[in-house]
Amino acid sequence: MLIGGIEAGGTKIVCAVGDRSGEIKAKQSISTRDPDETLQEVKAFFSDYELESLGVGSFGPINLNKNSDTYGMILNTPKTAWKHFDLLGRLQQDFRIPIFIDTDVNAACLSEYRHGAGKDVNSCLYITVGTGIGAGLVQEGRTFQGRTHPEMGHVIVPQHPDDTFPGVCPYHGNCLEGMASGPAIEKRHGRKGHLLADDVNVWEIEAHYLAHAIASYTLILSPERIILGGGVMKQDVLFPLVRQKVFGLVNDYVDMGNMNEFIVTPELGDEQGVKGAIALTVSEK
Ligand code: ADP
Ligand code: ZN
Repeated sequence: MLIGGIEAGGTKIVCAVGDRSGEIKAKQSISTRDPDETLQEVKAFFSDYELESLGVGSFGPINLNKNSDTYGMILNTPKTAWKHFDLLGRLQQDFRIPIFIDTDVNAACLSEYRHGAGKDVNSCLYITVGTGIGAGLVQEGRTFQGRTHPEMGHVIVPQHPDDTFPGVCPYHGNCLEGMASGPAIEKRHGRKGHLLADDVNVWEIEAHYLAHAIASYTLILSPERIILGGGVMKQDVLFPLVRQKVFGLVNDYVDMGNMNEFIVTPELGDEQGVKGAIALTVSEK
């Protein structure tokens, strides 16, 4: 039987058809416009297949509290056409099959856990450092949601001593996302991150913020592996800097093992999101 996967992002929605093993048989990328127009195209893509179930990894914030009347509704997003849009309700109307919905980062984390950089561990954290910063957590094959879902990108981090940048987060200013997302780097230094590759100071400051957040995540969640993805992490120089700073901050209080195996790159590339969405519908590893 076939399973549908939807990776719903602010700029594109990737749809795929696959099987329980995670093998993708067909895929299509649809640009994100207003909900109705976009989801009509999503429905048209899947209409060629007989699906058993559908998994959705969505941008957020999204209500993931199953006991709530607004379960599966997009919440306070700056994408105004999608604000308070009942995404799960609409998909249920369109497909009438079991639908499993989670955050995009939880889906990405589950994908890496099942098929990629987290294959050999029982728990892992996936962090994306891109236009925004977000993280998903998987423990024993299940993603963690809690009350709505974690928003780990918005933790408060201490200012770097040489950094006077106030941050770009509209809610908190200098939270992690405010200080270390791609747009934060661009605003602080006046140029996009990929043009700053040779400026060691840029990555020293970036690693400071990421490492403080990651040290806290490590102490709070105790994941066996931390996978760092997203556009900003294409700066390879960040990996050794972040590992070294996290090691220093935790100061041997907890055993993180070999730091090169503790903080790693993702393995799945382009199919990570849809494979994760499909994995949401399958309960075993
Ligand atoms: P999104 O978060 O929107 O899904 P990405 O994960 O690709 O998309 O992140 C986009 C952000 O990453 C942009 O702010 C961009 O400037 C930044 N970025 C992309 N490539 C690089 C790079 N090589 N080095 C540093 N920053 C980069
Ligand atoms: Zn914030």
